[in-house]
Amino acid sequence: AEMFGQLTSGLESAWNKLRGVDVLTKENIAEPMRDIRRALLEADVSLPVVRRFVQSVSEQAVGVGLIRGVRPDQQLVKIVHDELVTLMGGEVSDLVFAKSGPTVILLAGLQGVGKTTVCAKLAFYLKKLGKSCLLVAADVYRPAAIDQLVILGEQVGVPVYTEGTDIKPSQIAKHGLEEAKKKTIDVVIVDTAGRLQIDKTMMDELKEVKQVVNPTEVLLVVDAMTGQEAAALVTTFNIEIGITGAILTKLDGDSRGGAALSVKEVSGKPIKLVGRGERVEDLEPFYPDRMAGRILG
Ligand code: GDP
Repeated sequence: AEMFGQLTSGLESAWNKLRGVDVLTKENIAEPMRDIRRALLEADVSLPVVRRFVQSVSEQAVGVGLIRGVRPDQQLVKIVHDELVTLMGGEVSDLVFAKSGPTVILLAGLQGVGKTTVCAKLAFYLKKLGKSCLLVAADVYRPAAIDQLVILGEQVGVPVYTEGTDIKPSQIAKHGLEEAKKKTIDVVIVDTAGRLQIDKTMMDELKEVKQVVNPTEVLLVVDAMTGQEAAALVTTFNIEIGITGAILTKLDGDSRGGAALSVKEVSGKPIKLVGRGERVEDLEPFYPDRMAGRILG
């Protein structure tokens, strides 16, 4: 399925209605703005975000005429493009590394969002940047998750620190970090337990792990298919434990785009990386301008 396909065609119908107009007015953009509004809502962008977006685009559009040979309808495309980029956070938001000692990246996320896969993808990605990594298996509730991480670690050629399931996640993380220091490893990626839904145990555990290993990055892995719910989750995790950003997975699926468009605006936290498939190489930085380009087709 073509991601954003519906959003793209919804937006297109807005400009198409303005073909041949000399100047954009409050009156002639009213219906195209309703198209934009509808397209964003159908893409599962939350209502307050859509309202603000449409208002900002309208304000910039009214009064726009032919400028240096560029037609008003084409300028509206540019206005929407720039507003989409702003909405998604503007610049690419790079991973931050510790100034000295290992950088600790704490990964959190609900079950099934692709968190374990992200561990391997991230290790593979960092290896390509020339950084040595250690994966730490701190999901003590699912032995299968530990096994999966070990297999993935082998696949990407990155060691995995495990201590079984009879010890507290914060202790595993602490020992993993000590191991990384001893071996002068650059980045420690801590995989924590995912649950079907947010609960107090999960949050308390994350807080404890965070306190013990003092991570440079705390990244919430969210599934793009969940739309505006992903943005709500990022907000909740940020309020509860304090996070530095999000990793959006399954962007290759038929997600409607709401998550990519809402996370930054709703939570104040950037999407740092996106997953576009099941293979370990399918992880890349989130580029708001490229994403806007794809949305506009
Ligand atoms: P976890 O429960 O969060 O650890 O999730 P897993 O890493 O086990 O992934 C759950 C499922 O989603 C697996 O079948 C993965 O192959 C799949 N998956 C993970 N990331 C992606 C992605 O970016 N795209 C697609 N299409 N599938 C993914």
